[in-house]
Amino acid sequence: MIMDEKNFDLIVIGGGSGGLACAQRAAEYGARVAIIEVARLGGTCVNLGCVPKKIMWNAAQIAHAAHDAAAYGFNIELNGHNWDALRQRRDAYVMRLNSIYAQNLKKRNIEIFQGHARLCGTNKVKINELVLKAEHIVLATGGRPAVPRISGVELGITSDGFFALRERPARVAIVGSGYIAVELAGIFSALGSAVTMVTRGDKVLRNFDHMLSSSLMQIMLDEGIIFANHAELMELKFDEKNLLVLSTLDARALGPFDAVIWAIGRQPMVEDIGLDQASIALDQHGFISVDCFQKTNVAGIYAIGDVTGQAALTPVAIAAGRRLSDRIFGGMEDCYLDYKNIPSVVFSHPPIGTVGLTEAVARERFGTDNITVFSTEFVPMYHSMTTNKPRTAMKLVTKGVDQHVIGCHVIGVGADEMMQGFSVAIKMGATKKDFDDTVAIHPTSSEEFVTMR
Ligand code: FAD
Ligand code: NDP
Repeated sequence: MIMDEKNFDLIVIGGGSGGLACAQRAAEYGARVAIIEVARLGGTCVNLGCVPKKIMWNAAQIAHAAHDAAAYGFNIELNGHNWDALRQRRDAYVMRLNSIYAQNLKKRNIEIFQGHARLCGTNKVKINELVLKAEHIVLATGGRPAVPRISGVELGITSDGFFALRERPARVAIVGSGYIAVELAGIFSALGSAVTMVTRGDKVLRNFDHMLSSSLMQIMLDEGIIFANHAELMELKFDEKNLLVLSTLDARALGPFDAVIWAIGRQPMVEDIGLDQASIALDQHGFISVDCFQKTNVAGIYAIGDVTGQAALTPVAIAAGRRLSDRIFGGMEDCYLDYKNIPSVVFSHPPIGTVGLTEAVARERFGTDNITVFSTEFVPMYHSMTTNKPRTAMKLVTKGVDQHVIGCHVIGVGADEMMQGFSVAIKMGATKKDFDDTVAIHPTSSEEFVTMR
């Protein structure tokens, strides 16, 4: 059968954070661009990640504020929370974003194709009965939630299923201890669910600075979240009352639960996209292998974002995509994304902000004698009035006699909005003296970063 063929300068597979940014930047340089999306424009971040998650986090923040209101003199009677009403408003907002993305692409004359794309050779992509051809192809297919290989796994849900919930489960188990696990735990707990964290280790956020990990764990415990640690999963099944029970290899039966959520990491979307047709190499963890210019092992084919397994964050995918187009179509030959010092926020309750190295990594990498650490812990002024008193903890990790700040970490009220500015300073190579020379903003928590001794 002879298929229709269309020519472009750039084909982007995947209309998520990275793909959209790459396509738009290329089109701004005048390139003829096609973008192919099998689901909804915006990808994980907009539809099943950052955006709807932040709405839920906001709801949880309001629940905390409502709880604290009496301490500030308010006489408020709360009459519950309507999860499904919030879901509907949230989903309507996301749908508005979907159409804004489509409009933005059209404005730039980017051709949108709806369907599943597969490479067929090194400069061709097949979608439905159509073949698209271009000198440059970008793979931006993202990832999907991983699930454990245990009997009854299908009875649990993932973060995708979390966003589909029509009502809030009263008792929920969250399996995992990374970003998604602690964020969902905070949301459920604040809105009134009984939460059990099921972890294979004995802490949350194991790869973060110890101060952040231990502070958050303590705050979660104080809030009444239950931890089932060192849990090697065996089976998930319904009990006689149709409630979920999770059994572990050491014969624990955890539950009963109304919902069990798998939050054990994400896998790259590399299957069935024709990687074999172009002989694209994967790395040892199954992600598409790229160099610092986002080039795969095949000339003219690039990969960006979560599918490459490097700092799976929206702004990272966007930055990589834009720089790639700047290089290919904007004449910026040496343009690439520097993956060092990427700031990140965990939307726990309270939130965490972090950039640079943890104290442990810094000591290991540069020798413990070369590292000086400044830290502080306090009850933030907001909680001087409230009955619960989650503490704020902050740390600066510095290197050498000049005390270059190579790590900056905070957990506490406002941490989410604090870290962006400090990450600029750290990216510019700020020293502890630069921090000390900066006049504080009072009364805030962030002022502690420039007054630490
Ligand atoms: P995606 O956004 O996943 O886009 C890939 C797109 O490719 C998808 O739309 C998919 O449908 C499409 N696709 C796949 N295969 C094909 C194919 N064969 N043909 C056509 N289309 C295809 N990051 C943050 O920075 N901050 C946060 O607060 C945050 N919160 C998150 C919360 C959750 C619950 C999750 C799951 C993730 C969160 N992330 C967050 C991570 C962030 O969502 C991802 O890092 C980001 O979306 C990656 O962008 P991407 O372009 O690489 O992939
Ligand atoms: P993470 O990589 O953050 O955490 C995965 C967790 O799963 C770890 O706690 C790990 O435990 C645990 N785990 C892995 N395998 C198993 C297993 N077989 N059984 C039990 N536990 C297991 O992944 P997430 O899924 O939470 O998030 C994916 C990525 O999405 C994040 O890495 C982040 O890049 C991005 N994201 C960003 C957010 C933000 O910016 N705020 C929010 C949400 C996601 P262990 O510690 O023992 O290895």
